Amino acid sequence: MAMLHGRKTGCGLLVVALILTGCDDGRMTGSDGSVPPGTDGGGPPPGTDGGGPPPGTDAGPPPPMSALVDPDCTDGMFTEALPDPTADLSDLEAAYTGSDPRAFIEAVLGRRYSTGRELVVNGNSPGIGDCVELFLSDPSTPTSVYEELSTIVHECGHFYDLSEGGADAVYVINDSPLRLSCSGGDTVARGGSTYERSRIRNDEYQSLNASDFYADIYLDGNPDDSMFDGGDQGFDSLLEETVQYVNSLASSYAFTNELNTGGASSQRDGILTFLWYVERYLHMARLTFPSAYDHILNGDAGCWRNAILTVWGRAWLYLETTRGMGHLGINDAMLEGLVMDAELLGEIQRLRDAAGCPAP
Ligand SMILES: [Zn+2]
Repeated sequence: MAMLHGRKTGCGLLVVALILTGCDDGRMTGSDGSVPPGTDGGGPPPGTDGGGPPPGTDAGPPPPMSALVDPDCTDGMFTEALPDPTADLSDLEAAYTGSDPRAFIEAVLGRRYSTGRELVVNGNSPGIGDCVELFLSDPSTPTSVYEELSTIVHECGHFYDLSEGGADAVYVINDSPLRLSCSGGDTVARGGSTYERSRIRNDEYQSLNASDFYADIYLDGNPDDSMFDGGDQGFDSLLEETVQYVNSLASSYAFTNELNTGGASSQRDGILTFLWYVERYLHMARLTFPSAYDHILNGDAGCWRNAILTVWGRAWLYLETTRGMGHLGINDAMLEGLVMDAELLGEIQRLRDAAGCPAP
């Protein structure tokens, strides 16, 4: 239930803001200007980060799309209507007084990114709360609202999925409508068939990203102690975050013109980090937690592998659409290199193979 977003101010200072709900990832609070412990100042500006990306991952042409998705499988066949960043909002902006931000958010999303609107409309339910009320920190102007929309849509997406889910995890993918629901996705200790997501922090890949702010939030805690941490949750929660980081990026794309004011944000970094986590989760499952792996690969009639391939395909749709938009990425070139690791891409290929997709 958390997301990071970074913002580079006009003077070149990168501020990474930490925003979390009190839902199920542990309770922390933060607002623009706060930073995760140990990341004072939010890290260096883009391009000067911790010694830079590993050699060979930040230069050269982008990987061909065929290396990322299989055009003959669930991931490569995924399609949806893209947001329209050019839809005119001037009448809505002129009428906005700051008094009803929810109505304004729903209206602007309705014109630019209809799935985002659906998530916001449904992100208000008894027992969970109103995602806009809980997460919008500055409703004063259209511009201040646009800067928070990727967070709002992300968090509202969590609220909607949470309110629809029960014993099974529900993922509202888009308003086409496409929603997926799979069973047994939480950890064995929590009644499901998977393992704690924080365990991947101890794998051989984590050290390849020395400035992984996301790990401190999402892969936190000790899975073997009795205290609950967000990182104790299973694969269902890892996929849920991945779904919402796609929505974060889609929302940023929908308002790309308004957000392109000279700074940079971590919109592409977020989803790339989660694609990397999903690959690593599969890798560790296959090698260390065979029953969890079998559940993800073949359990629930292939529900999980289909869900992963769907989200993988949707993520790349937006990553390709926003490729080269420098204001939407900070360490995205480095992160893409991590995701493109051949061994890790092999984990995605194993899902395609299990789904019976033709060999590429
Ligand atoms: Zn989240």
